Amino acid sequence: MDEEWRDWPVDDEPPVDDWAEHEDLGSWEDATPVGTPAPVDAPDLTGAGPAEVLRRIFGYDSFRGEQQEIIETVVGGGDALVLMPTGGGKSLCYQIPALVRPGTGVVISPLIALMQNQVDALRALGVRADFLNSTLTLDQRRLVEQEFVAGRLDMLYLAPEALGTASVQQLLDRGKISLFAIDEAHCVSQWGHDFRPDYLQLSMLHERWPDVPRIALTATATTATHAEIATRLKLDDAKHFVASFDRPNIQYRIVPKDGAQTQLLAFLQAEHAGDSGIVYCLSRASVEKTAEFLSGKGVSALPYHAGLPADVRARNQSRFLREEGLVMVATIAFGMGIDKPDVRFVAHLDLPKSVEGYYQETGRAGRDGLPSTAWLAYGLQDVVQQRRMIEQSEGDLAHKRSLSAHLDAMLALCETVECRRVQLLNYFGEEAKPCGNCDTCLTPPEQWDGTVPAQKLLSTIMRLQRERNRKYGAGRSIDILLGRETDETRRGRHHELSTWGIGADLSEAQWRSVVRQLLAQGLLAVEGDYNVLALTDGSREVLNRRRTVMMRTEPKRKAKPARSSGATPKAAVDLGPADAALFEKLRAWRGAEAKEQGMPAYIVFNDATLRAIAARKPTSLTELATVSGVGEAKLARYGEAVLAVLGAE
Ligand code: ADP
Ligand code: ZN
Repeated sequence: MDEEWRDWPVDDEPPVDDWAEHEDLGSWEDATPVGTPAPVDAPDLTGAGPAEVLRRIFGYDSFRGEQQEIIETVVGGGDALVLMPTGGGKSLCYQIPALVRPGTGVVISPLIALMQNQVDALRALGVRADFLNSTLTLDQRRLVEQEFVAGRLDMLYLAPEALGTASVQQLLDRGKISLFAIDEAHCVSQWGHDFRPDYLQLSMLHERWPDVPRIALTATATTATHAEIATRLKLDDAKHFVASFDRPNIQYRIVPKDGAQTQLLAFLQAEHAGDSGIVYCLSRASVEKTAEFLSGKGVSALPYHAGLPADVRARNQSRFLREEGLVMVATIAFGMGIDKPDVRFVAHLDLPKSVEGYYQETGRAGRDGLPSTAWLAYGLQDVVQQRRMIEQSEGDLAHKRSLSAHLDAMLALCETVECRRVQLLNYFGEEAKPCGNCDTCLTPPEQWDGTVPAQKLLSTIMRLQRERNRKYGAGRSIDILLGRETDETRRGRHHELSTWGIGADLSEAQWRSVVRQLLAQGLLAVEGDYNVLALTDGSREVLNRRRTVMMRTEPKRKAKPARSSGATPKAAVDLGPADAALFEKLRAWRGAEAKEQGMPAYIVFNDATLRAIAARKPTSLTELATVSGVGEAKLARYGEAVLAVLGAE
């Protein structure tokens, strides 16, 4: 084996193919089996308008952003296309019209495995919700159908493939439909990662049920996807609502990779002990290794990738949703539609292939609006590996160029000295000001003129090529620049090269950073199976002094965590010590309650609501009812118990 291996140990399994990783998931077999639905005590909402439903069912005082206008559009019978980031509050935009308009709101969602969960959350609010999919027994199915036809359902969840069947279409004709909500509408986009062919047939909704309003929703921000959704779903007369994609509660941090697993562990221990989070890896093998590593260090971590048996995946997903403080280590197969509100961090151990992917994945943190972290470790090997993957990918030149452009944008984000958020939002066509809540804002990196070091490195590579007729990996060039004698440099008589030892002013780590940044800027390329470095047209411009190269210096101090929390859960951080203790008590009560019901804790109350209760300490049911997130059903069910926990103070 060539000695160049030591430069870039290649993962023992290739990164997953995005398409296959989703395809392999199947969809029908993944759902959690259901029991007989418990009857729901539905509050009487006759004549109630959107604001009243918001208050009584959801327990919220006011609409957020454009929610009100969207809801009014649909309540009035109009179509809407909604682009809003994860956690922006899309669900209310169809749930409230479904409750206000007569009939059942039909929600089309690709996420069969999560339907049970979505329905559970609604039922806990007193909403009569159910779903139809292949996981139901015939008897269960009949029951749901009866309820629908009898007009006793507020909302019915369906998979897109079900809508294509004659039996489901006939069923829908027998009941009254208040609206169609098309969730994850970007699944209609043939160029996206989440394409579902069954979404294409949803254009028929309008022809078959012309009087039923449609609302399509997605958290995918690009203009291309936006346009494609409108066209493919034939939303010709729809009003478009495009929200800001900023997620102010997420702190973005990108660190140079230096023993990624250890770095991850340190990050978790220092800032997210006991928190729920997701760790993304590029390959199935590294998912398993990382999950094992974390488990060995006392972090409760579970693996998830498309290569695991369906029942293991279903079990891990269900545990992640239901239990608190679990870390899911996953490939990109995991995450779409996971509406767990208290995911406190999303960590990437490998470089995502595009800014879109990065933003979608990090967006899964902090849906509840509480402080959360997006943390990415990125290194030389990531650039090398991804550049090589593109080079070796099948597909024509145009396809490769598009992959390269995506990677370049991601690398630019990693190497920027500007605010990460500004850069992210600009990428999605939004203007922004430096945010004060990303690593580059908190500890600004410096820029330096790296032209001379770049020339030294490029010149070394050029000389090796010309004088020795060989290409090497980064390690060899760095050895030469540092004048470091090894068996290999002796054998290759590399000390005779004129660049021998001319780079002693920089450390090895700094040289690796130079290589990484040159690769990121396209001023250097990787080739072949051994990841050897090769010059590009850009390199020649640098060598000919026609181009200067600006580089980023990593800040010496580490970015301070937003708030140092140690073992305190992030959700409790802003509370004073007494309130934090109360929050802990409420959390313990919630955990026990959720366990008894076999439900995720956040379905009882989410962290934001528990915090508000701990801060307000209401002394009566009437006062408790005014806390954000406490609606009628939850007040009736848990009010006394919550007051008892508070009273025990
Ligand atoms: P999305 O579907 O866009 O990702 P969700 O609908 O899950 O977002 O909403 C995210 C969180 O914000 C949920 O916990 C939801 O209850 C809460 N939320 C939504 N709208 C409001 C509002 N008007 N006031 C308070 N909280 C809200
Ligand atoms: Zn910033």
